[in-house]
Amino acid sequence: MKDYEICIGLEVHAELNTQSKMYCSCPNLFGGEPNTRVCPVCIGLPGALPTLNETAVDYAVKMGHALKCTINKVSRQDRKNYFYPDLPKAYQISQADIPLCEKGHLEIITEKCSKTIGITRIHIEEDAGKLLHDSSCNDSLVDYNRCGVPLIEIVTEPDLRSSEEAYLFLNTIKNTLKYIGISDCKMQEGSIRCDVNVSVREKGTDELGTRCEMKNVNSFSAAVRGIEYEAKRQIEVLEAGGKILQETRRWDDVKGMSFVMRTKEDAQDYRFFPEPDLGWIVLEEERINMLKDTLPELPNEKLLRYTKIHGLPFTDASLLVEGLEKSRFYDECIALERCTSKNICNWILGDISKYINDTGSSLYDTPLTADKLVKLVYEVEKGTISNSAAKKVLGVIFDEGGEPDEIIERLGLVQNSDTESLKKLVDEVIKANEKSVNDYRNGKTNAMGYIVGQCMKASKGSANPAIVRELVAEILNER
Ligand code: ADP
Ligand code: MG
Ligand code: ZN
Repeated sequence: MKDYEICIGLEVHAELNTQSKMYCSCPNLFGGEPNTRVCPVCIGLPGALPTLNETAVDYAVKMGHALKCTINKVSRQDRKNYFYPDLPKAYQISQADIPLCEKGHLEIITEKCSKTIGITRIHIEEDAGKLLHDSSCNDSLVDYNRCGVPLIEIVTEPDLRSSEEAYLFLNTIKNTLKYIGISDCKMQEGSIRCDVNVSVREKGTDELGTRCEMKNVNSFSAAVRGIEYEAKRQIEVLEAGGKILQETRRWDDVKGMSFVMRTKEDAQDYRFFPEPDLGWIVLEEERINMLKDTLPELPNEKLLRYTKIHGLPFTDASLLVEGLEKSRFYDECIALERCTSKNICNWILGDISKYINDTGSSLYDTPLTADKLVKLVYEVEKGTISNSAAKKVLGVIFDEGGEPDEIIERLGLVQNSDTESLKKLVDEVIKANEKSVNDYRNGKTNAMGYIVGQCMKASKGSANPAIVRELVAEILNER
């Protein structure tokens, strides 16, 4: 078999979390009783006129800046004409030739390397309604609540080379949207969806192979499965001496297969034409720049800061970046400049995350503050309390609030760091464990851990383990 390379281009649709819809003042909210969040504009009654939601434009421009695009000062809105029952106007207002943003790029970063993915364009458009296929009555029902919900479509160059890269790209886009705060990114509510374009070619060739476009990809993991399936299918066709036909296919995630929807021959001609009811979108340079200034530190920038400057392991840094609250909390702790980054990170990704997951609460709704965590971790770093004692204190803070030092004192958790009294304890334990001492001196190095454990036990956990370890080592290594 020849050596093949997979080329993938994505079209990502993200719903914007504006208050109202794109061209009318209906609320932009998920769900609701079917057909209650509608008006003459979004269900396309004759004579109704659209008015552009400027916040949606601002949001799209922000994303354009985040993806290092050129922002077009003048862009156009166009009608994309097609008939489908979820689109009562029989056209979707979108942008054809002149999108709001174009020619950008986004880095995908892995532990070993990073790669730049070209962004062809970002444009704004409106969402369509939802068809519900009711098996109980053999009918199809339609809910127009989603009609006119603002979307941005982000189109990439065919620069992605594997399903892993595609997944990483989608995740980075999701995090970026979350950080800018322009989309809820609730996958289960369909706030991010994507079409996946896949082709394969022999490694070493420059020309792209014929692509297939896959629709109905409803999650990032479905995108991965769809890409793997599609690439394998295309390679099999080529290996059997066949040719790839340019087609639109429908991904069926349950069956794990894609099926032809239409071929290029019957490709739709949308007959785009300028939307006559809306003017050009004209952006002042000042507004474009002002929107750029509102951008927060972006996920990739954060990731690099955490790994390169704080020295956090890549996986830890990614986990922090992924959770907007966690990284905010972490940054607040680091700003207090008292504890090492890695220790703070461990607490956030460990016990704190567990508590948040178990209780389903937001980190900022708990009594824990950055100040309290830093005080607590500082006591562990100083050796005043043990790690397990700190866990207890954290539990108390979550349950009833309070200050770490007060809780430490109330529960009597201060470790014994008094070398004199610890030396006595160690001497006794060593006397009682002569066998282990001999084992150690005969080369069984793990006997030391056992003795330290015995000392901790004898102190009922109150001894400072670092000092105990030092004292034990001193005695064991002397001859
Ligand atoms: P449309 O879907 O409207 O035909 P385009 O032709 O601009 O739009 O392509 C849409 C997507 O398909 C882009 O993400 C682009 O990178 C990707 N694409 C185009 N050609 C190929 C190819 N040969 N292999 C993989 N992806 C491709
Ligand atoms: Mg397409
Ligand atoms: Zn409306």
